[in-house]
Amino acid sequence: MKIISSPQEMRDFSKSAHAEGKSIVLVPTMGALHEGHLSLIKIAKQNGDICVVSIFVNPTQFGANEDFSKYPRTLEKDLEACRTTGADVVFTPNNEDIYLSDASTHIHEDQISKHLCGVSRPKLFQGVATVVAILFNITAADKAVFGIKDAQQVAIIRRMVRDLFMGVEIIEAPIIREDSGLAMSSRNNYLDPLERNAAKRIYEALLAGKKLVDENCTNVDRVKTTVINAVSNPKTRVIYTEVVDRLTSLPVNTITPGKCRISVAVWYGQTRLIDNLEI
Ligand code: AMP
Repeated sequence: MKIISSPQEMRDFSKSAHAEGKSIVLVPTMGALHEGHLSLIKIAKQNGDICVVSIFVNPTQFGANEDFSKYPRTLEKDLEACRTTGADVVFTPNNEDIYLSDASTHIHEDQISKHLCGVSRPKLFQGVATVVAILFNITAADKAVFGIKDAQQVAIIRRMVRDLFMGVEIIEAPIIREDSGLAMSSRNNYLDPLERNAAKRIYEALLAGKKLVDENCTNVDRVKTTVINAVSNPKTRVIYTEVVDRLTSLPVNTITPGKCRISVAVWYGQTRLIDNLEI
C-alpha cells in the first residue's frame, strides 16, 4: 500500500494508473476509521482497479464552535486498517497542501444544503462540496464511494457532479451499525456510557417511524412526532427530524412508501449524531 501526502505525487500516480488503463475509485474520509469506513473500501475494491482512501480532517466544514480541534486523529491505526482491508493508496495531505493561503474559490450548492444539517451548520456543505471537488481533481477519480449514513451529503455531491459535469460515478454504501443499532461514527468516540446507551434510541425511533409507514401512514407530521417521542429523553436535544425524498434529501409533504427517508440529528451532551432510514 502506498502512502502519498503530496497532491502532485497523487496526480502523477493517478496519471500513470490511467495510462495503464486502470480505473481509480476514491473513498474520501476524515480518518478515525471504523467498520463503516472499511465497508466503503471493500465496495471501492469491487468497483474498480485502484482504491484510493483519502484521510483529511477538512477544516472548512467545521463551524467556529465545532469540534475541529478535538476531532479524533488516529493515523497509524487508520493506515493499518486500510492496509488490512486492501486499499492501494492512502492519500494524507495536510491543510496547506489542500488550501493555498489565498484560496478564494468555493463550491456552494444552493438548494439541498438549505435544509436539515445545513440549517444548524451553515458552513458544512460548502466545505464538503469544495473539498470533495478538490479531492476528485487531485486523485482524478473515476468513481467515488460515499456512505448513505450522510444521505444529505451524498445528495449534494450527486447534484454537484451533475451540475458541474464532473463525470465521477457516485456509489452509495449502506449504513453499518453497532450491534445496538447505533450507526457507526467517528464521533461515537465522544459518547460516555450513559450517552451511548441513550443513543441506541435513535435507530429504535427510526424503526418506529418506519413501522407506521409500513402500516400505511403517509402523514409526515405523525411520523415525525413518533420519531421525536421515541428518541427524546432528558439528556437529549433533537436538532431535526424530517421526512425527505430518498434521493434528493429535500423535505416532502406527504410520504410515498419506498421513495422517502426519515433523517434525524440529535445532541447527546456535546456530541451531535445523525442517522436516517429509508421508508
Ligand atoms: P467521515 O470520515 O465521517 O467523513 O466519513 C467518511 C465516509 O464514510 C462518508 O462517506 C460517510 O458517509 C461514510 N460513513 C461514516 N459512517 C458510516 C457508517 N456507519 N456506515 C457506512 N458509511 C459510513
